[in-house]
Amino acid sequence: MKARLGRLRERLDLAACDSFLSLAAPTNQYLTGFRGSTSAVVVTQNEALFLCDFRYTEQAHEEVWSSGTGADGGYAVEEVSGNLQEGAGKRLRDLSARTAAFEPDELTVGDLSRVQTHFDGVCTPSPEIVSRLRRVKSPEEVDRIRAAARLVDGVLADGLRMLALAPGITEQELAGWFEYEFRKRGAAGAAFSTIALFGPRTSLVHGEAGDRALAKGDVVLLDLGCRLGGYCSDLTRTYAYSTIPGDWFDEVYTLTLTAQKIALEAVRPGISCHELDAIARGLIAEAGYGEHFGHGLGHGVGIDVHEEPRVGKDSDVVIEEGMVITIEPGIYLPHRGGVRIEDLVVVTKDGCECLSSAPKELSVL
Ligand code: ZN
Ligand code: ZN
Repeated sequence: MKARLGRLRERLDLAACDSFLSLAAPTNQYLTGFRGSTSAVVVTQNEALFLCDFRYTEQAHEEVWSSGTGADGGYAVEEVSGNLQEGAGKRLRDLSARTAAFEPDELTVGDLSRVQTHFDGVCTPSPEIVSRLRRVKSPEEVDRIRAAARLVDGVLADGLRMLALAPGITEQELAGWFEYEFRKRGAAGAAFSTIALFGPRTSLVHGEAGDRALAKGDVVLLDLGCRLGGYCSDLTRTYAYSTIPGDWFDEVYTLTLTAQKIALEAVRPGISCHELDAIARGLIAEAGYGEHFGHGLGHGVGIDVHEEPRVGKDSDVVIEEGMVITIEPGIYLPHRGGVRIEDLVVVTKDGCECLSSAPKELSVL
């Protein structure tokens, strides 16, 4: 936390701002350790304040890296009565701040106007001020993501065994079973609404689980992740149920898996996100399925399940050691079905280490 605060202050200098303001839970978790949903962080070169209301004061004293614990530095935890945004504006004013950097994707227009009721300095949008720091994970962060990935691997393995004994189970029931198991095994919950799709509905890239019952010859697409220790995991596997759904499935599955494997092999420090994306996309396009792979190749995972860097054709971000990203090509044929295969990797000195271990050779459940 101390190093993060130091780097934030360096970035404030670079941005020519004398203060930083955040009302975003993920940012505030990254900076202070607090896992609650509602808080404000105000940082200047000399002060670091953590603000919350009565509901979170006790939790804040347990979780926030705080000056009250006798640690070297840390945040002063303050309880705000009344509106948190206005409270943050007052603190900026009291600290004589003139220019406050904020993350534009994380602060609403309403938040900003309430902050400015009391703060008449300039609020400056600084899109990368914290997200850039969050891109590269510390070994402790990687360990947490690895633990979240392992938990999901275990739940998936048991889920597949359960599925074999549960003909007729619905997408909703299966998604619910996964989410219950995440909690039962110690996770805070699902990192995102679990995707469990059967049959032709698998072509809905982010389809919502519905009441379709599992039937022989269905494609089964499962995209699941949990939140454990404040960090997320993300995994997708596609299967056939009872029998292969058709020739198209073999072809599309093999192509998706090959694209995923060559992209995984190419992950290393120095390659750009768009180069990585092009490796998988090129292979899929060559085989004539380019128009059916309409999303990016992957994304960063950490405190948020989707965070920087975006691994897509428009991203110039260069991959660095310590980044945690997904590699998840997919091919979706409307009204027939889709295949997506997603793994979570941490970038190492000369390649990557896969954090998920669920088998991915074509398998009929
Ligand atoms: Zn996913
Ligand atoms: Zn993903």
